[in-house]
Amino acid sequence: MERLEIWHSSTAVIGPNMQLVACPLAISLSSGVYMLAWSRKKEDVVGLKAPKKEKRVKKENRTQPPVEAPYVAPKLKIATKSPDKTVEIFDGMTLLDLSKRTGAYISTLQGILADLGEKVESEFDSINIDLAELVAMELGVNTRRMHTGEGTNEPRPAVVTVMGHVDHGKTSLLDALRQTSVAAKEAGGITQHIGAFVVEMPSGASITFLDTPGHAAFSAMRARGAAVTDIVVLVVAADDGVMPQTLEAMSHAKAANVPVVVAINKCDKSGADPERVRIQLGSEGLLLEDMGGDVQVVEISAVAKSGLDKLEEALLLQAEMMDLKARIDGPAQAFVVEARLDRGRGPLATAIVKSGTLVSGQHIVVGAEWGRIRSLRDTAGKITESAKPAMPVEIEGLRGLPMAGDDVVVVDSEERARMLSQGRKKKQEKDRLRKIDEGMADELEIKEEAPERVEMPIIVKGDVQGSVQAVTDALRSLNSAQVFVNVVHVGVGPISQHDIDLAQACGAYIVGFNIRTPPIAITQAAARANIKVLLHKVIYHLLEEMGRAIVDKAPGTAETQVSGEAEVLNIFELKGRSKSKGPDIKIAGCRITDGHFSKSGTMRLLRSGDVVFEGPCSSLKRERQDAETIEKGNDCGLVIQDCDDFQVGDVIQCLEQVIRKPKFISTQSGSVRIEC
Ligand code: GDP
Repeated sequence: MERLEIWHSSTAVIGPNMQLVACPLAISLSSGVYMLAWSRKKEDVVGLKAPKKEKRVKKENRTQPPVEAPYVAPKLKIATKSPDKTVEIFDGMTLLDLSKRTGAYISTLQGILADLGEKVESEFDSINIDLAELVAMELGVNTRRMHTGEGTNEPRPAVVTVMGHVDHGKTSLLDALRQTSVAAKEAGGITQHIGAFVVEMPSGASITFLDTPGHAAFSAMRARGAAVTDIVVLVVAADDGVMPQTLEAMSHAKAANVPVVVAINKCDKSGADPERVRIQLGSEGLLLEDMGGDVQVVEISAVAKSGLDKLEEALLLQAEMMDLKARIDGPAQAFVVEARLDRGRGPLATAIVKSGTLVSGQHIVVGAEWGRIRSLRDTAGKITESAKPAMPVEIEGLRGLPMAGDDVVVVDSEERARMLSQGRKKKQEKDRLRKIDEGMADELEIKEEAPERVEMPIIVKGDVQGSVQAVTDALRSLNSAQVFVNVVHVGVGPISQHDIDLAQACGAYIVGFNIRTPPIAITQAAARANIKVLLHKVIYHLLEEMGRAIVDKAPGTAETQVSGEAEVLNIFELKGRSKSKGPDIKIAGCRITDGHFSKSGTMRLLRSGDVVFEGPCSSLKRERQDAETIEKGNDCGLVIQDCDDFQVGDVIQCLEQVIRKPKFISTQSGSVRIEC
C-alpha cells in the first residue's frame, strides 16, 4: 500500500547545553488519505503563500540552576534524530513550489541556486528537476523524482522475477528460459549473466526476466524504490510441496502488490504430485485459476524443459490483463539491477528502463555515480543505440560502481552530471554520519538499560552488487540489543588478502556469498589469523550460521531462576555455642522435592505460598558432610544466614543466577531474527 510520511514542521526545543533539539512528529497515512493530501498540496500551490517565518527562540542562560530549588542535573538529551524528510520534485516546478515542499525560505533557495551559478529572480520562475534536487540536497532533504506522463503511453513487455523455496528449481528454470532467450539464439546458446534477459515469443511479444532469483534481492530493490518487477513466478517443486520460503515468496509478492503465476516444477519426477501442491497453495490463500480464482498454474520441468512455452504464454496473458504501458519518448528513467567491475571495460551496470528511451552518448547520474554512456549493450552483448521500457541494457562509461536499485537519471551536460553526483555523495556521507551519531545515541540509550552490547564486525563479499546488498541488509536485520552487527566492508569479487588484513585488524568474520572458494594461500592466511570465513550459496543458510555465531557472541542477560525446591521436615537448634563458632543457629532439615540445591544459591523461605525470608545459604550439609550441591530426593540440613524463623511444612526454594543467551528465531515464513 502506498504510504506517505508527513513531517510536522519541526518544533525546536532548547535542550541542555543550549542545543536545539528537533522534535519531529511523523504521521503515516494510507493511500486514501494520500489522495487528500495530494489535492491539498495542489491547492496550496494555487494559494501562493510563502512559508511562515520560523519563530525565533530567545536564548537565555539556563545552565544556571535556580537559587532555592535543589539542583538536579538534567538528563542528557540525545534524541537529536533529524527527520528523513522526502519531497517530490518534478521538471518545471516553481521556486515557490520547492519552498513550500522543503519548508525553506525563497531567499534561502535563491542563495543556494546562486552558489550553483543559477540566477532565479522570481518565486514564480520554474526550475529544472536536477537543480531542484541539488537545492533539496543542500537543505538535507531527500527527493523523489516525479516524471511527467508527457508523450504517448505504449504497451511494454512485462518484467518477471522468479521466487520460491531453495532447491525447488529457480536457477534451473532461469537457465532453461535463458536458453530460449534472444541472447541464446543469437549467441549460439552461450549467454552472459548480466542480471536480466529477454525471451521473445514467435508472436513478437517478449518477456524480460530478472536473473537474480531469491527474495532478499527482490525486497532490497523494492526497499530502495526500484519496483521493477511486474509479475512473480512462484516455483514450487511437485515432489516437495509448499515450504517456508514458498510462503515467504507469497508474502513478498502480496506486500509488493505483484501478481503471481505458479510454476509447479519437477513434474518429470516419479514422486511428483502437482495436485497436492495445488491444494496446499489453495489452503494458503492463493486463489488458483482451477479453483475459481485468477492465479494461473503451469506444470513444468526445468530439467526436461517441458511446459516452458505454457509458462511463457501464462506470463504473456497475465501481462495482457495488466495492460502494461509506459512512456516511450523523452528522457529515460531506469533502475540498476546489477553492477560489476570489468577489468577492461570498467564499471558496468545492467539497468532496466522504466519509461522513456535511454540513448547512447547521454550524460547520466546513477545513484551517486555519473558518466557518459560510452556504449549500451543488449542481453546478447550486441551494441545498441538506445533502450526502450522493460529492456535491460548494460551501460558502459560510468566513473564508479553503482548499486543494485540505484536510479538512472539522464541530465543535460557533463557539468550537471558531475554536480548531481557530487551532491548525492555529499548527502550520502552526511546521512551516514548522522546515522552513526544516531546509532551512538541509540547505543547510549540502550546502555542505560542493558549495560553490555558487543560488536560483531562482518565483511561481506558477493558475486554481484545485488547479492552483496541483499546479504548486508539481511545481516543487519540480525542486529539486537546485545550484539551490534557492524558490516565494516562490502565488495564484489573473491576474498582477497586485503579482506583478510581488514578482518584481522578489526576481528571481523568474512562472509562470502555465491563466490568461488578462495585460493589456498588466502584460506591459510585466514586460518593463521584465526579469521572465520563463511561461504554460502543460499542466503537462508548463511543467516542461520551467522545467527548462531551472533548468539554465541552475545553476553547474555543474568536471570534468577528457581533451581530446586525442598520441604522443611524438621528443625534443629544449635544453642550455647562458643564465641568462636558464633551465635545460636537454627537448621532446617529438608527433603529436596525438585531440582537441586547449591550452596552458592540464594534461599527463599515460603510459608503458605508467601515469601517470609530470603538470604544467602550459610551451610548446606548432607549426612553431616558439607556439600556444594544436592540433588532431588535427598535429605539435607540447611542454614540460611540471619534466619531463625523456620517452621515444619515451610517450602524453601534455591535461587540461582543463570546467563540467558538471546535466541535465534527462524520463522515458518523463512524470516530470521534474534530475540533477547
Ligand atoms: P534453486 O535453489 O531453487 O535455484 O534450485 P536449483 O535450480 O539449483 O535446483 C535444485 C536441484 O533440483 C538441482 O539439482 C536441479 O538439477 C534439480 N531440479 C531443478 N529443476 C528440476 C526438474 O524440473 N526436474 C528434476 N528432476 N530436477 C530438477
